[in-house]
Amino acid sequence: MRTVIRDAHIVTQNPSRDIVKGDILVEDGRIAQIGKVRDSADREIDASGDIVIPGLINTHSHVSMSILKGQIDDMPFDKFLDKSFGIDAKRTEKDILAGARQGCVEMLRSGTTTFVDLYYSQDVIARAVEETGIRGILGWAVLDPEFTTQSGTPLDNAKRFHLSHRGRSRVMPALGLQGVYVCSTETFLGAKEYALENDLILTFHLSETRKEVVDCKKKEGRRPADYLANIGFLNDHCLAAHSAWLTVGEIRQLAQAGTKVSTCPVSNMKLATGGVAPLPEMFQNGVTVSMGTDGSTTNNCLDMFGEMKTLSLLQKSSRWDPTVLPAQQVLDLATIEAARAVRMEDRLGSIEVGKQADLVIMDGKSANLRPMRPESIVSNLVYASCGMDVKTVLCDGEVVVENRRMVTVDEEEVLRGGEAAARELLG
Ligand SMILES: [Zn+2]
Repeated sequence: MRTVIRDAHIVTQNPSRDIVKGDILVEDGRIAQIGKVRDSADREIDASGDIVIPGLINTHSHVSMSILKGQIDDMPFDKFLDKSFGIDAKRTEKDILAGARQGCVEMLRSGTTTFVDLYYSQDVIARAVEETGIRGILGWAVLDPEFTTQSGTPLDNAKRFHLSHRGRSRVMPALGLQGVYVCSTETFLGAKEYALENDLILTFHLSETRKEVVDCKKKEGRRPADYLANIGFLNDHCLAAHSAWLTVGEIRQLAQAGTKVSTCPVSNMKLATGGVAPLPEMFQNGVTVSMGTDGSTTNNCLDMFGEMKTLSLLQKSSRWDPTVLPAQQVLDLATIEAARAVRMEDRLGSIEVGKQADLVIMDGKSANLRPMRPESIVSNLVYASCGMDVKTVLCDGEVVVENRRMVTVDEEEVLRGGEAAARELLG
């Protein structure tokens, strides 16, 4: 199967960050040529005046919580946790599937082609991933058996999920860990051993709140990242979400271990957890940073364009420094740096020959993307655009969204299914 996207402004995100005007040839799921493509193809997509960017990568989410959107807003953190754990305990496969479908549709329609998820029942979420055609790096949530509602041992469940789903194209099993507050040293090390043996991403919540830091110091005598470094857990397969309350010493420990970060600015601001992730210090020390929306109860939107703008503004505002996190660097965090964070920079994150064809066509007719000048395209993407500007999306070379309509699933049916599930779950 050969597809050509014609006459677009291509934001390549290649090592020299070139923006070129021309065509992209996609052959068997991969980018085969960039520039003037003379041959015809099985499918021609006219993108004249439009912008093509690499598919965005959301490195922290709980996609099946999409149907809980708007249900747990504007309350103190402890109440928020009580309420979300209460709902979680009542969840069924049916509503997890409905939520995951809705979240996958929302992400694809707003230009995200790969996401990292942390939840239980990833076998159910995997179905939504395969139906919609997005790429899911699905981390089964592991925690100490006494804290979970999962039947059986969480780590065994995670291993079973990996064994039954490995080798697929869009579903990539991973390991998740809830966090230091519900995972013992033994649980952390057991998950690490399995992840490294099987080359799996190991994603977990880290230093999201000040309470987490204080409690960990009381229990373990160290701050969370320091504790995880000290027990020998941190490694280069680790992807730490939030990472807001870190000292420079802890950042150096993350850097030394090759641990990556997924910063979640909207979630942290909405829950008012106070810490602003120390990104400038992470960059100075060579930590790979990416960004995530977190779940739909703390965001409540899975649009990575909104996340990019918010992240940049939060960092600038908190440092009293408008030069912090410029537009190009923000776009990097959502594309090529995010690909590095999930150890797939050889396959994803930029538009280069040989890479998988995860491509997003943005509507050049949108007023918020004009005037269209090559010099301001990246700035417009980060500061002026939103997911509604996304017209067409390819994942692995397959067209999954075309002219703002889902191709793979019936969007209306998915959204109605989400409402029915929310009604059943929440009353
Ligand atoms: Zn989370």
